[in-house]
Amino acid sequence: MSADDLVVSRPEGLYCPPGDFYLDPWRPVDRAVITHGHGDHARYGHAHYLAAAEGASILRTRLGEIDLTTLPYGEPVSHNGVRVSFHPAGHVLGSAQVRLEHAGRVWVVSGDYYVAGERDDPREHNTTCAPFEPVQCDCFITESTFGLPIYRWAPQGSIFASINAWWRANAEAGRASILLGYSLGKAQRILQGVDASIGPIVVHGAVDTVNRAYRAAGVPLPRTQFVTEVEPALLAQCLVVAPPSAQRSPWLRRFGDYSDAFASGWMQVRGTRRRRAVDRGFVLSDHADWPGLQRAIAATGAARVIVTHGFEAVMVRWLTEQGIEAGAFATEFGDRDDDEPGSAAASDATA
Ligand SMILES: [Zn+2]
Ligand SMILES: [Zn+2]
Repeated sequence: MSADDLVVSRPEGLYCPPGDFYLDPWRPVDRAVITHGHGDHARYGHAHYLAAAEGASILRTRLGEIDLTTLPYGEPVSHNGVRVSFHPAGHVLGSAQVRLEHAGRVWVVSGDYYVAGERDDPREHNTTCAPFEPVQCDCFITESTFGLPIYRWAPQGSIFASINAWWRANAEAGRASILLGYSLGKAQRILQGVDASIGPIVVHGAVDTVNRAYRAAGVPLPRTQFVTEVEPALLAQCLVVAPPSAQRSPWLRRFGDYSDAFASGWMQVRGTRRRRAVDRGFVLSDHADWPGLQRAIAATGAARVIVTHGFEAVMVRWLTEQGIEAGAFATEFGDRDDDEPGSAAASDATA
């Protein structure tokens, strides 16, 4: 670390000394720059919030009446001589990387981001939000949620084909299909990716709240219903999209016989599926896989990389082998996917 670093770690969170503001702070501060609406990145209690305009409705839905200033992607604002701008991270609606420019240096804080595979393939973009845009910088602060070589996502087309086949088989056998996924981001990706002609789609109230923000932002989603709106005879044909907190809750009893599944990057590891005690696991993530992380980091051209939440040690070793100056910040961001139990974001206020 050097005295003129643009971002340092403080007990309250990541801090920009010349700008005198924090990035996704985990303790209440005066000025917070927010990358996206997940609970471990956007917390209550800050006096002022700055975020990408595309994520404003999500932040207001989750945090209520906050003092929020927004900027469209790519549009800079100057604060204490630091030029701040937001750039798409491809993770959830409104998710952003934060670009900081001061005295000729450029640093980028990634927040959480999604980019998959060794090459950029538009078929693998997350189409529920603006795709990740690489930003040239001197120092890139990257997440590393899935920063291990075992994490390589299958093509989205094959993941959704598996989900559709599971739903269709359940419908033919007369049981509902309960698909658990985090209500912000994962649920909307599921809804957009499935074949809505198989049967009615029912959503949990927590998912519907977020859907409203997505639809208002112009993100196309198929028709969804509340359980009370579906003819009882059709409940066995339903796909039910619900947050993980709904698992084994009384809310699920009204569907009668059902099969349940969980959609998460962690489903790539068999032990996680067993611990979750669901019938099926679908490996669908809103975070970069191992080749995606490598590609995203390389695209920034950064000579220095600081790794946060995830597999910091493995990533730092790999970066050092590439001749990149690498270090890590300890953070209080969820070091597991947002839908893992025990992560800060798993306590979904609207679930
Ligand atoms: Zn996130
Ligand atoms: Zn995160």
